Amino acid sequence: MVASSVLGFPRIGANREVKKAVEAYWAGKISADDLTKAAADVKKTSWTSIKERGVDFIPSGEFSLYDHVLDHAASFNVVPKRYVNQGLSPLDVYFAMGRGRQADGVDVPASEMKKWFDSNYHFVVPEVDEKTEFKLNFNKAVEEFKEAKAAGVSTRPVILGPVSFLVLSKASKEASAGFQPISLLSKLLPVYQTLLTDLKSAGAEWVQIDEPILVLDSAASLEKQYTSAYETLSPIAPKIMLTTYFSRLDSNINFIAKLPVAGLHIDLDRAPGQLDDVIAAIKSTPIILSLGLVSGRNIWKADFAAAIKLGQKAIDALGADRVIVATSSSLLHTPVTLASEKKLTAEQKDWFSFALEKAAEVATIAAALSGSQDAAVTAALEANKTSIAKRREFESTSDDTVRKRVAAITPEQLERKSPFAVRKEIQAKHLNLPKFPTTTIGSFPQTKEIRQARAKLGKGEITNEEYDKFIEKEIETVVQFQEKIGLDLLVHGEPERNDMVQYFGEQLNGFVFTQNAWVQSYGSRYVRPPIIVSDVSRPGPMTVRWSSYAQSVAKKPMKGMLTGPVTILNWSFPRADVSRELQSKQLALALRDEVVDLEKAGISAIQVDEPAIREGLPLRRSDWDAYLKWAVDSFKLSTAGVTDQLQTHSHFCYSDFDDIFPSIQRLDADVISIEASKSDMKLLNTFKQYGYSNQIGPGVYDIHSPRVPGDQEIKDRLAAMLAILPDSLLFVNPDCGLKTRGWKETEASLVNLVSAAQWARKTY
Ligand code: GLN
Ligand code: ZN
Repeated sequence: MVASSVLGFPRIGANREVKKAVEAYWAGKISADDLTKAAADVKKTSWTSIKERGVDFIPSGEFSLYDHVLDHAASFNVVPKRYVNQGLSPLDVYFAMGRGRQADGVDVPASEMKKWFDSNYHFVVPEVDEKTEFKLNFNKAVEEFKEAKAAGVSTRPVILGPVSFLVLSKASKEASAGFQPISLLSKLLPVYQTLLTDLKSAGAEWVQIDEPILVLDSAASLEKQYTSAYETLSPIAPKIMLTTYFSRLDSNINFIAKLPVAGLHIDLDRAPGQLDDVIAAIKSTPIILSLGLVSGRNIWKADFAAAIKLGQKAIDALGADRVIVATSSSLLHTPVTLASEKKLTAEQKDWFSFALEKAAEVATIAAALSGSQDAAVTAALEANKTSIAKRREFESTSDDTVRKRVAAITPEQLERKSPFAVRKEIQAKHLNLPKFPTTTIGSFPQTKEIRQARAKLGKGEITNEEYDKFIEKEIETVVQFQEKIGLDLLVHGEPERNDMVQYFGEQLNGFVFTQNAWVQSYGSRYVRPPIIVSDVSRPGPMTVRWSSYAQSVAKKPMKGMLTGPVTILNWSFPRADVSRELQSKQLALALRDEVVDLEKAGISAIQVDEPAIREGLPLRRSDWDAYLKWAVDSFKLSTAGVTDQLQTHSHFCYSDFDDIFPSIQRLDADVISIEASKSDMKLLNTFKQYGYSNQIGPGVYDIHSPRVPGDQEIKDRLAAMLAILPDSLLFVNPDCGLKTRGWKETEASLVNLVSAAQWARKTY
């Protein structure tokens, strides 16, 4: 018999119950007990509904109120000093680590967040040093295993493996120079031993241990650590399903195959080509192979025939008892259920599978591979065959105009007319900005009123004209505010945008939208990625009207604001039938037309946000060059259609530039703004080292938390920046957009930002 398995499930709940409860708890509207209860209800529903779909291995313990890496840190006592002894409950310490806290005399910033591999999910980075005392503060895996059991569901608990946990951690400020978190492995393993021993006594037969680091090139140098970890853990643990995802194992399989584990999970959605090598490596071992056949990263219905073919190959080599059919990764990156979508057409609905539908898919594929003659299984196979055929038919249609335009892209279209040094002079005259110009990243607080107006428009309670008037009023307020506090390069505030990707998707051809398909980005922040289903083109201007209006009510120059092609692609669910490169270039051409239209309308600076360029980087280095070529070309294509006097900006919400630096330079944006405060500006040295030549605005404060940075704090930051970067290149701005913030802290923070810039102008 071939078993089936789901590696992890969305945490939000079909009706966003968990998000709502977490936010209500933060607002002091419900108690910790109410929050626990809301979470328990959602977990129970998830477990029972996965079970009802016939899945054999059901995950538990991967649920989280904020982030699963943060859960591990908190449970292992990896709590930075600044959060301890503040008189907070353990739950509030946990949330303070995730989002910072500024209330009742407590003032602590949030911990650093990083993108979870190549996804748009962010994890909270644990901080460790030589003095870290690991101990098991609580055993979440055991608690949730028991919770599921009490709900009548026997689960396979999920934990993050010790090597991945440490590799994902960073050295704390107290650590000595050169300290490597992985050096703590032998100190950490006893805690995992306790965790796993308890899990076994609680009756868990299997445990899923995630070691996603195994798909990276860097894992090749961790053979010793992996061997010692799993030799220590496997004798006392339940049967271990060593789980990898998002890419391929390549030569790492040589040492993985020798690890004393009962099972190995591989991602065949991202890397189907690795199956043969993995089979060959484990054939003579007793290892059970879990095949990630149903994508945990997209929303397309699985092609059963293709999955069965791969599954059969594994069965032929290993035997049915050594094969499990699974989701490729956790389903965390997919929405809960297609059943919540009421507005998709029947044709569209037939293309997709969300988390619950995917659970049914693994069960059906496993049943088919087990030779089931069950009528329901036969019917499901037939239905799948029909819908896949229909989708293929739809996919074979294309927009010839767009396809031809992409095929005709020339190298000249990618380059600005003059080099940066020449443009800089022309733009300085044209824009007339002071030294250390101040600006923001685009959005201003998305207030309740804004969200209500949008909702009313959606329900037809106000007319388009009324809504447009409302947006104009908002823009005017934001413009006046910026002029009042003395910002130099203004923005319109993005009040008309529900989301930086969805807003563009809705105005472009080729996208489909959902009502309820929320996917976690970080903490309680969820996004609803649009779905690219066909060729993309721009029927007409998308932002010109609002940017022109903003400029018309402003005395200072206005910066137009667009989301870049790579980011729209990465934060959408892309098509699986054509390359990402083709989709990105189609988006780039649409944006190029928009940029040209904005310049024609009198806008003199345009920011094209590309916060997702880094996260879209393939996990394996050998795939980088190809990606960076088309990704950077797409950005250039979208921005290079303008005259020299137009100042192009781009924005990135991260700071890991070390390894992609030449590509950042190759973008040739006149100004880039980057996240810099959470990561302690460590990246600036990289810019210096490489001699980055264009202008740069390293964020002077973190916007992910309501905390207000002091005036002195920002001055210190600027001083530190100016010790590294040339005066003539520095812009002053926050880390990112302000849409998730309230007005109160926004005003206080920006006033401090402006005053720090004024101080810098006098001092430098
Ligand atoms: N312009 C966008 C904003 O300010 C950028 C957001 C982002 O980088 N994630 O909201
Ligand atoms: Zn950002």
